Amino acid sequence: MNGYFDHNATTPLHPTAREAWLRASEKHWHNPSSLYRDAGIASQQLESARERLGSLIGAEAERIVFTSGATESNNALFATLPREAVVLISAIEHPSVREAARSRSVVEIPVNADGVVEPDTVKTLIAAENPALVSVMAANNESGALQPWREIAAICREQGVLFHTDAAQWLGKLDSSHLGECDFITGSAHKFGGTKGCGFLVLPKEDSRLGFIRGGPQENGRRAGTENYPAIEAMVTALETMTSHLDKVQSQLRDDFVSTMRAHFAPLRVISESAPRLWNTVLMVMPAHDNLKWLTRLSRRGFSISTGSACSSGKEGSSVVVTALGASPEELKRVVRISSGWETTAEDWQALAAAFVEVFDDLNRGGRGTV
Ligand code: PMP
Repeated sequence: MNGYFDHNATTPLHPTAREAWLRASEKHWHNPSSLYRDAGIASQQLESARERLGSLIGAEAERIVFTSGATESNNALFATLPREAVVLISAIEHPSVREAARSRSVVEIPVNADGVVEPDTVKTLIAAENPALVSVMAANNESGALQPWREIAAICREQGVLFHTDAAQWLGKLDSSHLGECDFITGSAHKFGGTKGCGFLVLPKEDSRLGFIRGGPQENGRRAGTENYPAIEAMVTALETMTSHLDKVQSQLRDDFVSTMRAHFAPLRVISESAPRLWNTVLMVMPAHDNLKWLTRLSRRGFSISTGSACSSGKEGSSVVVTALGASPEELKRVVRISSGWETTAEDWQALAAAFVEVFDDLNRGGRGTV
């Protein structure tokens, strides 16, 4: 039984990525900036990984800058905007966007009752605020709600405003071949089977302003420091593997889980339930008991779940999405997030539902929840 249901926090290294990392580390560990033949080969391999990533996401390779992950990409983007710039960001962005944007003039885009940004709202706010940049994530990390980023990208193009999407949770889970329509794209390898500490930022084609880590001339002078080619190779390989499996993903297993849960916990609120969502994610408000009680008792039974987003875990009432939807502080304490992965089976989902029922009985009896 595989009880890991926290893939939106991080994923295990995919076997194809592990193999790619080992191969790259053994054969092409040389510094791509050095001048001898082996270094030249490493440099060629790196550029070929960039080309492959570009073709997966529908963006020209020269637009891609490799980074240490989504947090760096988001920070880099906002750091390069003028201090006085007005930026529109959605109310449900990840902390790495919210906090990075804070040093600029931020106007929040509200979400509707399904936790989704409406394109018309963006249009109205662009007319009212004249922003330098609009940032709306592709898929939300907590609820899994898909945001209409393609439509918003088109509106921004029409209005001559730059558009950024944080696609950390979309990549590897859904077709990413149109992401290149956005001016800026953020990605993080460990969300789709790559290693931690590796990601990318896509920039507009003619963008001369970014040079966000100073030092050597790597990444076209935009991000100095020796490139982590093995991690980059593993990331691109993982995304290729995930992309080739996209036709096999199904939300049925998740929906069956919710039906089983509802049979036991009648008033179960699933956030963004009527919106299109990632096939792997359920964010729900449990009918009773604090989320940490659920989490620890499920953990003792071998299941890993989350109380919202890992980046704000440990903080009571930390769900950005449920807060944006106007939940009461009491409800916020009952939020749990389940997120499956490519290796999760129907049996794993059933075992998780059974464990929830067991824990509920245990909590209602006032038990301490021993295994
Ligand atoms: N953006 C989103 C939407 C995320 O889900 C995450 C990870 N929780 C990040 C950014 C940050 O990614 P990383 O920790 O890899 O920098």
